[in-house]
Amino acid sequence: MAAVRRVVPPRSAYLHIPFCHRRCYYCDFAVVPLGDKAGGHSGPGSASIQAYLKDLQREIALSACGPPLTTVYIGGGTPSLLSPAQIRALLDQLRQHFGIQAGAELTLEMDPASFDSQDLVQLLDAGINRVSLGGQSFDDVVLEQLGRRHRRHHLLEACRWLNQAFQRGDLSSWSLDLIQNLPEQSLADWDQQLVQALATDVPHLSIYDLSVEPGTVFAWRQRQGDLELPQDDRAAELIEHTTSTLRQAGLARYEISNYARPGHASRHNRVYWSSSGWWAFGMGATSAPWGERFARPRTRQAYRAWLDDQQSTGLHPSLLRETATPLPLDDCLLVGLRCREGLDLEAQARAAGWSEALCRAHLPALQDRWQPALERGWLQRQGRRLRLTDPLGMTLSNQVLVELLLWWDSLPPGVVAQSSPEEP
Ligand code: SF4
Repeated sequence: MAAVRRVVPPRSAYLHIPFCHRRCYYCDFAVVPLGDKAGGHSGPGSASIQAYLKDLQREIALSACGPPLTTVYIGGGTPSLLSPAQIRALLDQLRQHFGIQAGAELTLEMDPASFDSQDLVQLLDAGINRVSLGGQSFDDVVLEQLGRRHRRHHLLEACRWLNQAFQRGDLSSWSLDLIQNLPEQSLADWDQQLVQALATDVPHLSIYDLSVEPGTVFAWRQRQGDLELPQDDRAAELIEHTTSTLRQAGLARYEISNYARPGHASRHNRVYWSSSGWWAFGMGATSAPWGERFARPRTRQAYRAWLDDQQSTGLHPSLLRETATPLPLDDCLLVGLRCREGLDLEAQARAAGWSEALCRAHLPALQDRWQPALERGWLQRQGRRLRLTDPLGMTLSNQVLVELLLWWDSLPPGVVAQSSPEEP
């Protein structure tokens, strides 16, 4: 008898705030640069922000309802450009529409130099209990090269405010983003970044590799031959150093880019990586409430036109339980493998609607493809689960993931459509 995937209503919501002071040189996100003096309630850009918030609130009001939320993530862009009152209004609307469960994780992305200690107090009063700080580097020269607006002293000041709020118990957790694998970055340079990050006592770190995206200033510099990223062996060395340094400091790697002290892993991000559903609202935001992913238009005009369309002709099929397509198995496996726990292949396949016979017929081919990775120590078996080793497997994860994609492409037509949702 075929197993079917159970569709559990989402308990998480992402809100996209697309405004930034300026576009950083490496960034290809859906953002709207408003200038260095932009701000939420008054000042340059405030009319744009207020008009956008109306659209965002219209989208939330149009959404199907669901059970109370257990995680909310307000990301961007630079959401800390909004005033605390505007953040409070967004949370209030989510509370009225879905409900917010007691103890829910409510995260706000903040940029140094876009808020002061008084803003922070008011944001915490509005209900925010986790902050993700876009620090990127403690080095002024690097911040300049990245096109960031803030400087080292802004970052240190923001870390100090956040840590004080955390120590007082006003903030449940906070996280710092850093970028590694930068042009001409030596191991000693990077070590200094880690030392300074640890000195802030931050309980969660997200560490991203610089990637050069089309259409960015960095892509242009690369075409001019003016951007030299570290070679693969140097990049691997940096990641190994990161993992061992942070592990010694008590921060365990729980996902390819994320490290946390016990109890501080991001609950919201775990929703993305566990194949659970989530709501999302705003320009360029990707939702997957019932499995199927859907990315909204990436400009304000196109987003508003899409909203008008939703209002007049009904919600996009992916937003309704009855019409959404379940998340395909390859997507479930891709996100599952990113996490420390890894995945149980057969359990995932059965949950996606594969019969026992189908599992017997097709899963061994994937295991064969992954055998060399097992032998090289990139993958590891633990009972029924397969997981990337740390740091080697996580560093070389693309080489393991590509075998998964090749296997998926090799499946006979029709096999990929073997899942069907079931009412919980
Ligand atoms: S602040 Fe963040 S979202 Fe805004 S441009 Fe820079 S990297 Fe992109």
